[in-house]
Amino acid sequence: MKIELTPDTLDWQAKARAYADEYLQPHEVEAELNGGVLPAEITRRNKLRAIELGFSAIDVPKEWGGLQLPLVDQVAIWEQLGRVTNALSWCFSEPQEWMFEACTEEQIEKYILPMMHGELKDCYAITESGPGSDVAALDSTATRQDDNYILNGEKWFVTSANLADYFWFQARLPEEDDDALFFVDQGTAGIEMTANPLFSHTYAAHHPTYQFTNVSVPASHRVGQPGDGMAYTHSWFRHERLMIGARSCGAAARLIEEATTFAKQRMVGGEPLSEKQAIQFMLADCATELWAARLMTFEAAAASDRGDDLKTVHNRCSMVKLFVSEMANRVADRALQIFGGRGYMRENVAERFFRELRVDRIWEGTSEIQRLIIARNLLKRGLDGM
Ligand SMILES: Cc1cc2nc3c(=O)[nH]c(=O)nc-3n(C[C@H](O)[C@H](O)[C@H](O)COP(=O)(O)OP(=O)(O)OC[C@H]3O[C@@H](n4cnc5c(N)ncnc54)[C@H](O)[C@@H]3O)c2cc1C
Repeated sequence: MKIELTPDTLDWQAKARAYADEYLQPHEVEAELNGGVLPAEITRRNKLRAIELGFSAIDVPKEWGGLQLPLVDQVAIWEQLGRVTNALSWCFSEPQEWMFEACTEEQIEKYILPMMHGELKDCYAITESGPGSDVAALDSTATRQDDNYILNGEKWFVTSANLADYFWFQARLPEEDDDALFFVDQGTAGIEMTANPLFSHTYAAHHPTYQFTNVSVPASHRVGQPGDGMAYTHSWFRHERLMIGARSCGAAARLIEEATTFAKQRMVGGEPLSEKQAIQFMLADCATELWAARLMTFEAAAASDRGDDLKTVHNRCSMVKLFVSEMANRVADRALQIFGGRGYMRENVAERFFRELRVDRIWEGTSEIQRLIIARNLLKRGLDGM
């Protein structure tokens, strides 16, 4: 299923595929059976190799020592890394381009570049139990006190917080009628992990709940300028939604390949399972939907690279997140069905992806929130503005 890609993009795609196949995929079952955790030396090796290949620098501007790859290349990379279960590809951190617009030089040196070099890891604390999907209505506050801000609030589902060195903390500034992000170092007085629930997937990165009580951070830890509000969180959403699309395409491709191989080998009633039309129809639907998903994901990335209108790009990232995450869930369901009872075993890739892909319809804005964004855009700007 070829999409016309440049030699450079194909080169990145091949590098990422080789890395996923050689370094990550062989450890999936081991991770699944060990709470998502691999031996420290394997995790270190995988992280070092990813950094050596340049993956932690793909969205970093050249003036900061990064590769500043077009988003199309980044999608090609994350599509291949998405073929692997248990979030084994999260072994390295990756700064995003907007961070270099938002942050001061001092912040970039202290928090952002060390991520590219594999020295620090971040986590993102936006969601709260009350507002939930309505991220514009956060209860957490940041109040100025002399040269500091005092942060208060409870944050849920803080992915990777158990491994991270610092939080991006989103809060309301009641005195300014504004919102802002703050850097908050792990271990600052007043931060307490109040719950660490288990989730459907088996990842080394957990999603704990944190209480922030009168946490004092220097004013220099505020990100961006007064009036920036949620702008940078929206930049984060756009990037993540597109990359969820990329990873979901990779997951779906792996599932289709593995289910097809199995169906050709599995004998049922004296003939390969793949001869059964019911199975062929499932595979045909999977392949067709994957092709549509890949076309829209790469085109949304290309639109951003071309410099298309930001609102149009934002809307397309929502469409990608909505369609591609739901497509991958349908593919995982069909693949599991094709494997039969074997597909329900945790050592089977379809079983793991069946659980793991489910959250892609929830985090970074649920499918319903993406539909709201798309519908509002359609009503305001019409089809031509999408
Ligand atoms: C494993 C995991 C990891 C996560 N990681 C992070 C993280 O690192 N950082 C972070 O900040 N957050 C994180 N999240 C939070 C995630 O982004 C939220 O769960 C998500 O935005 C939905 O919010 P909610 O769970 O409060 O659901 P709710 O907002 O309570 O929604 C419940 C249901 O109502 C629907 N709904 C809500 N509003 C509307 C509406 N206006 N119209 C129609 N339907 C609506 C939703 O689509 C959903 O189906 C994570 C979540 C999970 C499960």
